[in-house]
Amino acid sequence: MKRNIVEYLKESAEKYPDKTAFLDERRKITFKELDDEAQKIAALIYARCGNIRNKPIAVYMEKSVECIVSFLGIAYSGNFYSPLDVHSPIERIHKIIDVLQPAAVIYHTEEPDELDDCREKISIQDIEKAEIDISIREKYKNTADIDPLYVLFTSGSTGQPKGVVISHRGVIDYTEWLYDTFSFDADTIFGNQAPFYFDNSILDIYSTLRNGACMVIIPETLFRFPKVLMDYINENSINTIFWVPSALIGLANSGILDKIHADKLQRVLFCGEVMPNKQLNIWRKNYPDILYANLYGPTEITDVCSYYIVNRQFQDEEPLPIGIACRNTEILVLNDNNELVGENELGELCVRGTCLSMGYYGDQEKTSKAFVQNPLNSKYCDTIYRTGDLVKYNAYGELVYVSRKDFQIKHQGHRIELGEIEAAAGSLEGVNQACAVYDNCNKKIVLFCTLSAELTEKMIYRLLQDKLPQYMLPKKIKILSALPLNINGKIDRVTLKSNCM
Ligand code: AMP
Repeated sequence: MKRNIVEYLKESAEKYPDKTAFLDERRKITFKELDDEAQKIAALIYARCGNIRNKPIAVYMEKSVECIVSFLGIAYSGNFYSPLDVHSPIERIHKIIDVLQPAAVIYHTEEPDELDDCREKISIQDIEKAEIDISIREKYKNTADIDPLYVLFTSGSTGQPKGVVISHRGVIDYTEWLYDTFSFDADTIFGNQAPFYFDNSILDIYSTLRNGACMVIIPETLFRFPKVLMDYINENSINTIFWVPSALIGLANSGILDKIHADKLQRVLFCGEVMPNKQLNIWRKNYPDILYANLYGPTEITDVCSYYIVNRQFQDEEPLPIGIACRNTEILVLNDNNELVGENELGELCVRGTCLSMGYYGDQEKTSKAFVQNPLNSKYCDTIYRTGDLVKYNAYGELVYVSRKDFQIKHQGHRIELGEIEAAAGSLEGVNQACAVYDNCNKKIVLFCTLSAELTEKMIYRLLQDKLPQYMLPKKIKILSALPLNINGKIDRVTLKSNCM
């Protein structure tokens, strides 16, 4: 059993020194070069910050190979990284810096003035000046598996971003399970979509390191051009993708899957939001031999805690299950009385296992609300994470995601899952995507849709009357050319909610 993720890098650098590990638009890096450069980053950290251990170090640069070098250099030095989104409003960056108080920030070429509060700023260009000695090379061996590897900031409901702390152990446990489940190997070529400040990227990065695989960082702009994106997948021989559903839905709706065949694609994995069967069926019709898997999980449990490998046919309007718990993970579905749910009963998905985060950085109060004692065990310390997601079991004993607790509304006295309205609207012929929000002030349900046929709001309403009870019908329907996406590439519900009028 590995103690820290640097051991993955060391092993792959030994086994495949000259094999390309990561590449972006500007450069490639082999496993050996990555190992060397990561050590240099660790040397720079010591030279500038002294002999620090288990301290946060921020990485503030565009998504690139250099980010990976920085993450691994920080891990080498026995500290933990936190990637910041350079495109985020400066106010949000300041909030994160206030919480994180990083010992240093690593940046690319231009010193970021906006990070004046940071104690040390290290340019990745200084790598040339780094002096490595034996003590640096050996340092990572002191890192235990319970030490933190990274802190990812998710948006808190109060507007204060929460820093989710994840240990080496969580990532190792996850990466080993991925290897056993999806048989990644040195021939796997990942086409990375997820930004590095979003936990989906953990699968791509650490499976590449563990298996001597290769990760191609797909330029973000390509996701707006389906044909260029498909050509890029082919040119780079990408055979495995792990994307947010919105990105897969975009390709399915564009019609490109009929026209261009990605010959090498073997695995299509997704996580982060609901994947509608309507669009998955388009993928499956065009690529029947590919392995499809719906992974589920929040950042707080090291990316993924349940999975469903698609193994049967689904109607367009049926929900795709999120499946069963991953290895070494237990899922408890609890009702409002903190009891395990019965048949067909809706409950909150709660998780226990090695995957659990070490809580929110510098926020004991929020940590103790979300990470609580297992209500089914009063005998010893047994922490579960309450996800806030409502699920139920289907006839196969698989978990089915229904909605987030906060998407459950009370409207005209009825308890309604907005997800159910979306599923009904999304299954209509001619509707590409649907998102329902609740306008709390005016007490009305608003439905946003994108279309592939000439439908009017009235026509959509009439079609929905056949599918939903009266009280669930949207008060207002708005047709958009595209749904807005948030920084992780998921549907941006906050923006939609502010456009309810
Ligand atoms: P994040 O922490 O940004 O990864 O977001 C986690 C949330 O995304 C979960 O709590 C769910 O609400 C949602 N989510 C993640 N995976 C899925 C999935 N496969 N199906 C439906 N919702 C998902």
